[in-house]
Amino acid sequence: MTTIPLTPLVAQLPASVPFVGPEAQERQRGQPFKARIGANESVFGPSPKAVAAMRAAAAEAWMYGDPEALELRQALARHHGVPTEAVMAGEGIDGLFGTAVRLFVEPGVAVVTSLGAYPTFNYHVTGFGGRLVTVPYRDDHEDPEALLETALVEGARLVFLANPDNPMASWVTAERVQRLLDGLPSDCLLLLDEAYGDFAPDAALPAMQIERPNLLRFRTFSKAHGLAGLRVGYVIGAPAVIDCFNKVRNHFGLGRVAQAGALAALQDQAYLRQVVAQVAEARAAIAAIAADNGLTALPSASNFVAVDCGGDGAFAGRVLAGLIDRGVFVRMPGVAPLNRCIRISAGRPADLAVLAEALPQALAEARARG
Ligand SMILES: *Cc1c(COP(=O)(O)O)cnc(C)c1O
Repeated sequence: MTTIPLTPLVAQLPASVPFVGPEAQERQRGQPFKARIGANESVFGPSPKAVAAMRAAAAEAWMYGDPEALELRQALARHHGVPTEAVMAGEGIDGLFGTAVRLFVEPGVAVVTSLGAYPTFNYHVTGFGGRLVTVPYRDDHEDPEALLETALVEGARLVFLANPDNPMASWVTAERVQRLLDGLPSDCLLLLDEAYGDFAPDAALPAMQIERPNLLRFRTFSKAHGLAGLRVGYVIGAPAVIDCFNKVRNHFGLGRVAQAGALAALQDQAYLRQVVAQVAEARAAIAAIAADNGLTALPSASNFVAVDCGGDGAFAGRVLAGLIDRGVFVRMPGVAPLNRCIRISAGRPADLAVLAEALPQALAEARARG
């Protein structure tokens, strides 16, 4: 028998993936989903101008993309009112997390996050041997004060906070984020995940402060811009810290078509505003469907809604399975007490009509099997 000469670190990693894709579920079901409202993608799609730019770039895809992604980074810098040197673009937030964690985490280093928060971040921390320390949610919100306290006790190198949050869609005020940041020692970085920042109230977003070497803010084109399949995200931080990404990042990771599409999407802010409005309507429609079924939709500052199924995680799991059986792709949080909810992404009226039809049946079945 041949042995695979893995590093000791990788050899002891679990053979798990953070998410099973809806494609795998469709293969297993033997049929496609009728409504794909489970991964917080934007069913409203990207700006037609972004589609046109990607189409034009397709014939030029024989060339590597600009490894500095300069045009895109300059446009992002102008958009956020920061210097270009404060922005790094990469293969989605997920890809940038891998790079950021590699920069700061070695085996045994403590990293603080919330119990049930974004799993892909945890996946990267584990992959570099970091020691994850979790803090419970408080009333379905991430808890900045407890994150700070735990980071201080543990001597953490990184603290993760998603604001607005996934999977609960709740948010905390910029003042509380700022107090967390101000309380951290200079050798502990706050990784502020603003994947849903485009949907957030202004009161959730702290001022840009690129003079702070221990704040990294992550944004993406995957959610409001409707380009999840393109893989473009970016991180904003102190130029000296951002420059460190160049030591380890995949310099040609951002393809030419991706750079062109993201740039055109950024330039179409009118389309973005329209999507944000459509998402708000969809959230209200999901809340109404939940109420029609006697369920409570939690307030959402995002492009999805956590719907409290009114029971425990096992019950919500049965509701979820019933929806999936009926062709509705949705997901749910992984741990109690968050897992009493299912997570439903904003859909078009046609997607939500499929949900409205399937939910009462899934609920009745979940109750009958309970
Ligand atoms: C969707 C999501 C991401 C992933 O963003 P990509 O740019 O597509 O990698 C990151 N963080 C949170 C909290 C998300 O929900």
